[in-house]
Amino acid sequence: MKLPFCLQTFIYIIFFVMLSCSVEDDNSSSNDVQTTEPEDVQNNSSNSDNSNDNSSSQNNNSQSTIEFNSNLTCNTPMYSDMPDPNSEENNYKYFSYLWQTEEGKSKICLNSYTGVPEEAITLINEALFDASNRLGQLLPINITAYYNGISDLDLVMNNWKALKMTPEGFDPSDFTAAAGVDFSNIHNGGQGEISQGIWEYSEGVSKKIIYHEYFHIHQNSHTFYFEDTNNFGWNENRITDKSTSDYIPLVGPVWLEEGGADFAAVTFYSENNLLDYNSFFTELLDQAREVITDAKTREDIVRLEDYNTGDNIRRFESSENPTGTSRKFAYQYSAGAIAHLYILKTGRATLDNMIIDYYKNLAELEREHYGEGYKYSFESSFGISIQEFYLEFDEFMLKSRDEQLTILELN
Ligand SMILES: [Zn+2]
Repeated sequence: MKLPFCLQTFIYIIFFVMLSCSVEDDNSSSNDVQTTEPEDVQNNSSNSDNSNDNSSSQNNNSQSTIEFNSNLTCNTPMYSDMPDPNSEENNYKYFSYLWQTEEGKSKICLNSYTGVPEEAITLINEALFDASNRLGQLLPINITAYYNGISDLDLVMNNWKALKMTPEGFDPSDFTAAAGVDFSNIHNGGQGEISQGIWEYSEGVSKKIIYHEYFHIHQNSHTFYFEDTNNFGWNENRITDKSTSDYIPLVGPVWLEEGGADFAAVTFYSENNLLDYNSFFTELLDQAREVITDAKTREDIVRLEDYNTGDNIRRFESSENPTGTSRKFAYQYSAGAIAHLYILKTGRATLDNMIIDYYKNLAELEREHYGEGYKYSFESSFGISIQEFYLEFDEFMLKSRDEQLTILELN
């Protein structure tokens, strides 16, 4: 069927958005978040060869050899090495960081390199601040913005690797969009990276992607944070033991992590008139329906739970699929976002329950229920147990498109 040009363009954009997310997700699984700060953007863009020269240091009580970046200098590690925990109990290590001040935890550094235009810096900063104001912020963030093909990638990588405390750089591309928080470098805050393909979309689509990335920082920072004691902590075994094939990350299933980020971003920018709510969610519904319809021709029954882990997704979306044929891509994004909309429209949870409360409760519930914090948080914030929800949502996805649009209030 020949589609009108505008619709083709729209689909193309959506598809590209998803591609960019996939790139990001590969990075984010092993990486953390990066932050930006408007005043420093200029400094950093013209001074991205900054070193640790400006950072003064002070002794961390727990470990005198580790230096703290007490000026909170952008694009510079907050700590010269991973600090020792302040306390340990029941396999948990707990940390209080010296940047846990009003200034430190709201710090956003946009570290931009040669080739990144002024308009892009403005746009990225606006989106980061939109997200920070709406969702809150627990830790300093460094975001790397580079123009692939123009920026000095050696410089980009060297600064990035120092923040991440890793010898490995990331794979640069024209469409990089990635962010996250990782326990191994959370003492440096959250980190992320963006390249030109992202800010060259329309304003609404560009900001949606950046908001989506910020959302990953929001989600993952809360998996380590205890509101009552205002400290961070984790059981390292839970994070590093990936021996079971059904390993679910602390944050919850992949469809919830990715779908939640898209749901929050589309909702925010349609409330602020940069995106059209009905078109975006209808398009996501149609993409999810297409995955199901296509798979059905091979008697491959699509379930939301198939999209709970990266390994499962790779299996269903490759020739390792039990039918021998890959499913169409990215149900974790499309159906993941629609699953959130479905919960909202069936009245089980409010927007804030899903985009704030679920994440706030994760660390505490995980500490009480090893390996299952996300299940408990899901039930208390989404108003239904996750297993019941899987059954109900899979059934919903088999209804007629008209029925679905009515339930989702998109018609
Ligand atoms: Zn993502």
